[in-house]
Amino acid sequence: MRGVAPPARIAPDVVIDVEGLSKSFGGHKVVDGLSMRVERGQIYGFLGPNGSGKTTTIRMLCGLLTPDAGHGTCLGMDIRTEARRIRAHVGYMTQRFSLYEDLTVEENLHFVARLYGVPQPERVAQETLEKLGLGGRGGQLAGSLSGGWKQRLALCACILPGPDLLLLDEPTAGVDPKARREFWTQIHDLAASGLTVLVSTHYMDEAERCHEIAYIAYGKLLTRGTVQEVISRSGLVTWTVTAQGMESRVAGLALARLTRELELCEGVNMVAPFGTALHVCGHDEAALEAAIAPYRHAPGLLWKRAASSLEDVFIDLMNRSRDNMQ
Ligand code: ADP
Repeated sequence: MRGVAPPARIAPDVVIDVEGLSKSFGGHKVVDGLSMRVERGQIYGFLGPNGSGKTTTIRMLCGLLTPDAGHGTCLGMDIRTEARRIRAHVGYMTQRFSLYEDLTVEENLHFVARLYGVPQPERVAQETLEKLGLGGRGGQLAGSLSGGWKQRLALCACILPGPDLLLLDEPTAGVDPKARREFWTQIHDLAASGLTVLVSTHYMDEAERCHEIAYIAYGKLLTRGTVQEVISRSGLVTWTVTAQGMESRVAGLALARLTRELELCEGVNMVAPFGTALHVCGHDEAALEAAIAPYRHAPGLLWKRAASSLEDVFIDLMNRSRDNMQ
């Protein structure tokens, strides 16, 4: 990769604006007519199961892959014809740690700074390390860092050239909960300073930290909006049921049997265990109530009407899109 001059800041109000993106590999469509719009300063969560096309979409957005169909802009530049210019303004963090393990933390950042032609590379590298709380670890070999610190170093490398957009592909996979929390604090700080962030994740708690989310399965975008919009638009009605006054093994067996029976009932779209409770969900309130009525007063079962969670909505969307595929 050749060094390029540090980019002038580019920040249109709509940072990602694409329509109908599609991509196939070996005749198999892995992204299918996907449209999305991300505004400046947003933290946009990109969710979906493994293999649903998130990485492929991210790679099309930053010009690393050319779509088979569809068009649009990233940072106001055409994703088909201005890929090279786009890449100069985007920080892309892949799932794999892509820095040099046998260089120190500082040496890795000096390398990135020179690669991007950043003026005063050593000063900028040190400032970036301090900003992300890595100041004391400059002399440590990158390969000896824990998963959480490696992720932080990778984020430093991404933001060091001063991008306008961060594309983070499952940045917290395999990172412990404390490091994940700190990472999200940093992401919010970066967004508050004007950076736009598109982040793919599997974790529901992370989805809830995003300003907006999009959910993709089998290459198709199934829903998008704020968490509240996604939940209320789903139209999903949820009841929870717990087994009371039984030892935990007996309670587990009772709930497992109940799951099998409810899954066969008309009006029940989904039954999913959450800790010691079952979530029983449906789209037709009356049909769902009729389905659970025979169990409502069974001894040892406590039923409550509950707000649907984002996870309920995603499991339901996933089940329905699998059914559509079949
Ligand atoms: P996700 O990021 O949601 O896990 P990906 O975009 O990585 O999904 O992959 C979507 C599908 O496309 C998967 O089935 C994957 O195996 C396939 N795929 C991705 N990249 C390639 C490639 N370069 N060649 C062939 N198949 C690919």
